[in-house]
Amino acid sequence: MINEGGGSSRRDRGPILRTVGTGWSTRALIGGITAVVAAAALLIAGIGALAVPRWNAFSAPAAIRGGAQVVGPATATAPDSAGAASHNGLWPLPEACFTPAALHKPTARDHALLDGDSREVVVTAYPVRRGNLGAETAGHGRTCDSKLWKVVRAVYPAKALALIDRFIVFDGTPDDDTLGEVRPDNAVDTRWTLLIRYSGVADSTLALTLVHELGHLLSLNPSQADPAPEPADGCDTYPTGMGCSLPGSIMDEYMTQTWSQRLVDQWFAIDVVNDDKARQAKLDDFYRQNSASFVDSYAATDPDEDFAETFAYWCLGGTLLTPQLAAKATFLTERPETAGMPKLCQLLASSGVPDLS
Ligand SMILES: [Zn+2]
Repeated sequence: MINEGGGSSRRDRGPILRTVGTGWSTRALIGGITAVVAAAALLIAGIGALAVPRWNAFSAPAAIRGGAQVVGPATATAPDSAGAASHNGLWPLPEACFTPAALHKPTARDHALLDGDSREVVVTAYPVRRGNLGAETAGHGRTCDSKLWKVVRAVYPAKALALIDRFIVFDGTPDDDTLGEVRPDNAVDTRWTLLIRYSGVADSTLALTLVHELGHLLSLNPSQADPAPEPADGCDTYPTGMGCSLPGSIMDEYMTQTWSQRLVDQWFAIDVVNDDKARQAKLDDFYRQNSASFVDSYAATDPDEDFAETFAYWCLGGTLLTPQLAAKATFLTERPETAGMPKLCQLLASSGVPDLS
């Protein structure tokens, strides 16, 4: 998610340490990763418009605007509104499902389930077994959550669904712009929690978030990345936030085929900057200089985010106009892990994607 200044503060992938990956970077320098797409720096007219789109659409819950936090239990949403356009009756969710509710005061449980971010609270938490939601373990089960889960089941392929063992609906204060997260629940990355925030969120934004998180599940699971910690001397392959990507994995190939050496070098040089503000300023510059290569500024913050964000735009039918983005779309169309996915995403595509033209 992107704020007005073009910075990003979206946490959406859990307790992942940012790793430098010098080994991979060094290998890249020596071996010469060849970019399929030359860094032609073609700026297609209007491409700047794609920098903004979705995350700015996030509106703060009315109940907590102005900084006065309302303390109280999250209330159940109103009954379904009739007459909303629907696709197979699943999507979009009834408008009432997006109605903001008051946040309760964060508890120790909220902290434990949400990585200690005091701005966020758990609305509902559900165990997931074989793709089915169990009885809630936190909050009160809500019809809207069940409807949302049916959408997840319709869009996520079985291999991704099988990774999810917990579904958490959360909410947060206006200054917290986190919309979603996937987080491994064990050391071998075979069980994951999917966390989604949709109170006060536009349905098109929710659609993009759902597919973005799916992109992480498809590219960071143990069939793609070694769950072992990254070796001290770095990875021989692209280091995801989850460990070294496996040779031939979708992330390793994505980086090899769609990121130019110049981009790789620039990004890794920025990634070693420890000061958050300085790093963000450099990332903003990086995006401005290379906007033709990214679907939006959030994608430029991290290769894993680039993959997830590009995957979301592509899957939802966004038009990827520049040669660099077209190459990424071709890559996703051809890779077995993602080929055919737009068919599943069609359900959500009815809400539209940001106009990239
Ligand atoms: Zn992400």
